[in-house]
Amino acid sequence: MTDIKELLLSRIRDVADYPEPGVMFKDITPLLADPAAFTALTDTLAELAVEHGATKIVGLEARGFILGAPVAVRAGVGFVPVRKAGKLPGATLSQAYDLEYGSAEIEVHAEDLTAADRVMVVDDVLATGGTAEASLRLIRRAGAQVAGVSVLMELGFLGGRARLAPALDGAPLKALLEV
Ligand code: AMP
Repeated sequence: MTDIKELLLSRIRDVADYPEPGVMFKDITPLLADPAAFTALTDTLAELAVEHGATKIVGLEARGFILGAPVAVRAGVGFVPVRKAGKLPGATLSQAYDLEYGSAEIEVHAEDLTAADRVMVVDDVLATGGTAEASLRLIRRAGAQVAGVSVLMELGFLGGRARLAPALDGAPLKALLEV
């Protein structure tokens, strides 16, 4: 493992049975509190965004905002928040998706993504992939291209990569760490 990956991994705290029994929550707050680790993470994600020609970073609520905003600034591109339904004041595109029990809905301001954009989605953890998949649908419905999805950590046993593949349509999914 590279030094950067070791540093990042060492700053993620496993919290058992949070927010419910059986879930191992990956808490990134120790990483955010460490400037060397936070800078290494955002620099690495920004390099990926530049490498893949991104013109916008989409951050997924809420930890994707914390990571995605500095990545966008570092990469010299715009930041676009994808939020849970009902939080954005302007005209939105909405996308519903299935959860294990029930469903959820995310939204983006329609005017923030155009046909001229190549969009990199940033989040902390790829779990089932449902949220990222829905965000890719929003991006494509807005007429923009998908530059890829970049996450700090992929929980491989949940199969998110396979779920995302059709929506990625060949665009890269990059996870800096995998468990
Ligand atoms: P997903 O199942 O991929 O749609 O995950 C939805 C969101 O929940 C992601 O944006 C993650 O930030 C968060 N999430 C899911 N599972 C975990 C976990 N074990 N630890 C931390 N965050 C998680």
